[in-house]
Amino acid sequence: MPKDFVPVARPHLGQEEVAAAGRAILSGWVTQGPEVARFEREFAAYVGSPHACAVSSGTTALHLALLAVGVRPGDEVITVSHSYIATANSIRYCGAKPVFVDIDPATFNIDPQKIEPAISDRTRAILCVHQMGMPCDLKAIVEIGRHRGLPVVEDAACAIGSEILWQGQWEKIGKPHGDVACFSFHPRKLLTTGDGGMLTTASAEIDAKFRLWRQHGMSVPDTVRHSSPEVVFESYPELGFNYRLTDIQAAIGREQLKRLPEAIAQRRQLANRYKQLLGDMPGLTLPDEPDWTRANWQSFCIRLPKDIDQRTVMQKMLDEGIATRRGIMCAHLEPAYRDPETWRCAQTTCKPSGRCPNLAESERAQREGVILPLFSEMTEEQQDRVVRALRAACSPRNQG
Ligand SMILES: *Cc1c(COP(=O)(O)O)cnc(C)c1O
Repeated sequence: MPKDFVPVARPHLGQEEVAAAGRAILSGWVTQGPEVARFEREFAAYVGSPHACAVSSGTTALHLALLAVGVRPGDEVITVSHSYIATANSIRYCGAKPVFVDIDPATFNIDPQKIEPAISDRTRAILCVHQMGMPCDLKAIVEIGRHRGLPVVEDAACAIGSEILWQGQWEKIGKPHGDVACFSFHPRKLLTTGDGGMLTTASAEIDAKFRLWRQHGMSVPDTVRHSSPEVVFESYPELGFNYRLTDIQAAIGREQLKRLPEAIAQRRQLANRYKQLLGDMPGLTLPDEPDWTRANWQSFCIRLPKDIDQRTVMQKMLDEGIATRRGIMCAHLEPAYRDPETWRCAQTTCKPSGRCPNLAESERAQREGVILPLFSEMTEEQQDRVVRALRAACSPRNQG
């Protein structure tokens, strides 16, 4: 890869993370232990949540969250198709069926007005997504959940540090505003531990379930057993999983948490600069940030002008040494969802396999969206190159 290649994203990891991981390794305690406990306390304080429970990934966080709010085989969960496929997959892990609702094209987030018509007597929960770090309309969604007696789980995989105006106050995503919020620490997100995840909730009862299930359903945590002066025999009262985060990862996560405020400020500045530099491009649509949100800009997704081909633009940019990604993909268009029994849309009479007329905005967003490079250490010079390459790739002589 050329030296001046611009990646679509790059994690900010340095000597601090190396030293922290080294300390954890040399401490003699390498899997879930004291570093995980510290990381959980610091994470909870950062987002303003009473409880935080670390797990092995954003996906395993989603699985435990859905189980904890009571999703069981035969149930339905309302969500979006236009998300990373793990969102819908986590519903299927519970033996339940995702019910896909279309998005609001301006924000790429679930359209709250389309939720009510999708509710059936099998609906057990709403799984909303803060797509690419942009908070979804939680106020409307939580209201529907309360009104219909449905728990709200937030897929906040991308949304660490994003904020929402809530009853006149700016609050972090993950407080949580629904019943549970799920975060991911994959390297494409703002805080990375390689792989990892976090669950936040205001319910001590739900938090206790997470702690039991992430560690094989074991009645006594390892830390308690090891520090007890008396012999302790554990038991396994419920079916659990191995969804642990390691202490090595948690030590890295604690350093990453310290970098967050600056990283978010840098990303917000770069996102604003993209908007200034691209504002006059004919036909191009820039991502919307509603005035009740402050995004962390995990991704910056533009929509190409009509009649401009996505793959052509992305290839031209790659030829210039600039990586991009297409818009978020739709789960219902993937072969893993070809069987019509694996999902349904809001229209119970619609039995599509493949393209679905009721998810037209989701499909259009996948087709028209292009995610531009954005990472906290990106230079203005790199950003200028991205803008130049995008303009050139969209110019008429370069198309077709
Ligand atoms: C990244 C992501 C996930 C999955 O997180 P992992 O940590 O990779 O398991 C789930 N949902 C969304 C919206 C994501 O962006």
